[in-house]
Amino acid sequence: MPVFTISKEAAIGTAALGVAVVAGFLAGRRYYSEFGFGTPKSSSYLLRKTSPLQQYVLDHSLREHPALKKLRLITSDHPYKEMLVCSNQAQLMANLARVIKAKKVLEIGVFTGYNTLNMALVIPQDGRVVACDINEDFVDIGKPLWKEAGMEHKIDLRIKPAIQTLDELLANGEAGTFDFAFIDANKESYNDYYEKCLQLIRKGGIIAIDNVLWSGRVLKPGKDDLVTRHLHQLNEKIFRDPRVNISMIPIGDGVTLAFKLQ
Ligand code: CA
Repeated sequence: MPVFTISKEAAIGTAALGVAVVAGFLAGRRYYSEFGFGTPKSSSYLLRKTSPLQQYVLDHSLREHPALKKLRLITSDHPYKEMLVCSNQAQLMANLARVIKAKKVLEIGVFTGYNTLNMALVIPQDGRVVACDINEDFVDIGKPLWKEAGMEHKIDLRIKPAIQTLDELLANGEAGTFDFAFIDANKESYNDYYEKCLQLIRKGGIIAIDNVLWSGRVLKPGKDDLVTRHLHQLNEKIFRDPRVNISMIPIGDGVTLAFKLQ
C-alpha cells in the first residue's frame, strides 16, 4: 500500500496534529517549530503533510463516504482548494452531530459543499441543512455529488450574504431550533455569525468555528492585520463567554467547538 494514499487536502490538519501537539508539549518543545508549524507569520504552520504519523491517523480513522471522497478529489484541483475543510475535522463534526441527534444544521460558508454533504449524510431524512454562501459557481461543483449521495432534498441553499439568511431565519421564528452550526465564511463577520448562531441554536447545540488559529498568526497578530486581530479577539471573547462550554481543537486550521448552555 502506498505510504501516502490521500490527497494533501485531506491530509491537512488531521487528528495527528493533536497527537503531535501533545507529544510536543510532553517533550517540552514548542509545537509550532517541532511539529510542522512554521513561525506565527508563516502560512505553512500545519503538521507536515508528509508526516508518517499523520498518515497513520488518516489510515486508521478516516471513514469517508464515497461521494465525499469524490468531491474532495474534485475540489483538490480547484484554485482555492485550501478553503476545503479537512476531512478528519469534518468527520469529527459529523460524529458530534450524530451524538446530539442533530436535525437542523447551519452551514455558513459552503465553498464546494463538502461539509454540507457531510452534515446532510448524518441528519434524518426530514432534517435540513441551511447552506449559506454568496458564490454559486463554487457550490455548483458539489451539487452533483449531493444528488449522487441522495442528499439533495436535505439541503436548503441560500445564495446571499449569510448574515441576511441568519436574520431571515430569526425573523421567521426559528430561534432556538437549530442543533449544529459550522462557521467558515467571511472572517471579519465571524462575531456577527457567532452571535446570531447563538440565538438560532438550541440549548445543548453546538457551534463549530473554523480557522481559529489562522495559520498560527493568532500568536502574534500584526498591527494592521485586521482579520487576525478579529479572530484573536473573538477567541478571547469566546474563552470568557459564560453562555457556552468550549474546546479549541488544533485540527485543520483550528476549530473551536462551543456548546450552548442555555
Ligand atoms: Ca475554513
